Amino acid sequence: MEYRQITEGSTTFAAPVQDQNTAFPPGTAPVFYNTRMELNRDMTVLLLSCISPENYLDAMAATGVRGLRIAHETGTPAIINDRDPLAVAIIEKNAKTIGGNIRVTCDDANRLMCTERFDAIDLDPFGTPAPFLDAASRAAKRYLFVTATDTAPLCGAHLKAGMRRYFATPKNTEYHAEIGLRIMMGTIAKELIKYDRGMEPILSFAKNHYFRSHVRILGRVTAAETTMNHIGFVMQCPKCLYRTEQKGSLLPQTHICPYCGAETEAIGPLWMGPLQDKPIIASLLEKLPAMQLGTAKQMDKLLHQLLAEPETCTFYDYHIISRNLRVSPPPIDEMITDLTNLGYPTVRTHFAVTGIKTTAPLHIIEEWILSW
Ligand code: SAM
Repeated sequence: MEYRQITEGSTTFAAPVQDQNTAFPPGTAPVFYNTRMELNRDMTVLLLSCISPENYLDAMAATGVRGLRIAHETGTPAIINDRDPLAVAIIEKNAKTIGGNIRVTCDDANRLMCTERFDAIDLDPFGTPAPFLDAASRAAKRYLFVTATDTAPLCGAHLKAGMRRYFATPKNTEYHAEIGLRIMMGTIAKELIKYDRGMEPILSFAKNHYFRSHVRILGRVTAAETTMNHIGFVMQCPKCLYRTEQKGSLLPQTHICPYCGAETEAIGPLWMGPLQDKPIIASLLEKLPAMQLGTAKQMDKLLHQLLAEPETCTFYDYHIISRNLRVSPPPIDEMITDLTNLGYPTVRTHFAVTGIKTTAPLHIIEEWILSW
């Protein structure tokens, strides 16, 4: 196999050369390496440089880039695993070159997580993390980090696949990106709760073709109960843009849209608690300039957005509201300033370029757009 040397962050490692005729999709390489996931990996490197877990399992490692970077750039002891012997040969070669506290294993991730516990576990599968969440919920002592790339099932575009994998009903709304992230996080919460454990999200976001969440695990029944209270439903009117949030119940309560009288439809169950630990996000922003990270500029923008977003579970697309009102979209910055001055914190959201996260109810946003 032919290799090329790649540097991400301050770590240089070898990855197999892709066949030039099949350079895309990235899964066509003999061992998977996707440059489009660099920001995803950079974020975890930055986070681990702040929270310093005792050890870190990269459960599905491919070239090992994630675990290698964690060991090399944060000094965290890393266990790097893949079930593919070809991948493991590459990881071993890379681990030897890089040095540091690294153990390489060739095992099925579920089997490994059933035989050993780790302070932090990272799941980065092809597609859905659902088949790995049960074992990870028991094997992770303090931290669990999860990526999902099956955005179509999570967002409601492939409804039945989403229901099967996540035991939740998504819906393809204009805020589907947030729904997808929250359904994934709701599934993580449910897996932990059944073992009388709870979770507190530290850093969660949606980007391009994936969702990513880093959560802290709390091993107490009371924490499981608190976590349960953060599970709920978004109730969406099928006829207009009105929606409301119902928390703390596994059964959606019938709710009638106050604008058009239609019965709202339940989206969920999903995670309705905070997506971020904001003091940690603030400390990541402070630490970022001192780190050598290839996507630092994008990270800075994203972290500022995550810090500013109010904890609502949905967002509005102001182009869609304007279209429904048959008017041109207003200048977004003016709208944000005015709604905020009216007492409704409003910001752009990282979920969509024409999205605004606001505590303002729909009729206030509509009135403002019409008066502009
Ligand atoms: N984490 C890598 C990175 O950042 O570049 C990418 C991982 S790739 C998306 C998924 C990897 O999971 C593949 O290398 C595949 O061999 C491995 N894999 C799939 N199922 C597995 C299982 N049950 N146990 C262990 N590894 C598995």
